[in-house]
Amino acid sequence: MSTVKVTYVPAFDDNYIWFIHGLPEKYAQKQIIIVDPGDEQPVIQSIEHNQYDPQAIFITHHHGDHTGGVSALVDKYHLPVYGPAHEKIPNITHFLSEKQTVSLKSMGLSFNVIDVPGHTKGHIAYLGHQLLFIGDTLFAGGCGRLFEGTALQMHHSLSKLLELDDNTMVYCAHEYTQDNLVFALKVEPENERLKNRFDETVRLRQKSVATVPSTMALEKQTNPFLRFNIESVKLAAEGFARQSLDNPAEVFKTVRYWKDTLD
Ligand SMILES: [Zn+2]
Repeated sequence: MSTVKVTYVPAFDDNYIWFIHGLPEKYAQKQIIIVDPGDEQPVIQSIEHNQYDPQAIFITHHHGDHTGGVSALVDKYHLPVYGPAHEKIPNITHFLSEKQTVSLKSMGLSFNVIDVPGHTKGHIAYLGHQLLFIGDTLFAGGCGRLFEGTALQMHHSLSKLLELDDNTMVYCAHEYTQDNLVFALKVEPENERLKNRFDETVRLRQKSVATVPSTMALEKQTNPFLRFNIESVKLAAEGFARQSLDNPAEVFKTVRYWKDTLD
């Protein structure tokens, strides 16, 4: 388990804006990194209410529901803004791409950057302390739509995530889990772990409890968009496409298209 504390404020209908807190041994738990602030209002309210001390903003990609609050927060708190090197986003001070590291020494935190194009062309993720801030690339039980990139790019991005440790906590930016799992069950109606996850998710959502973060282990077991190497998912995709699929990237592409036809 990660020793790093992560909290959130909700925004819009279903966004989560994550706060990564400094390590307790650094006496820096009031210090926070703000991840993808699409709206400044709930962020400022929470900072004032909790007397947090914001240190930086992390951006995963350029969409407005992830960046809309940045300029107001920079004006108010004079924060460095870390974001993708290959997207046009105002206010970024540190341009990041694969293999770069972000260190916030006073907080005792350090994150590696992973390029994960597909949802957008320059989308990045932040990995450190067994925490993954993945924006709109991977969702709990699902994955982001292909607005700019290709299915092949997204397949490659998700393949990188499959390499991550099972204990990695997955922080996506939306509460889409229940809808995603309804679709996942169409792909794998016999997956027992998935059925259990769906039941648990319904229980949590009835009480308006967040289903994020999840773990890489759970995603590997239940997320059809990470299971392109699994025979049952391949067979289901072939059934939908009414043709045989030659490789895992084709399986992924078909499952993504299948869900798009239903949304
Ligand atoms: Zn997005």
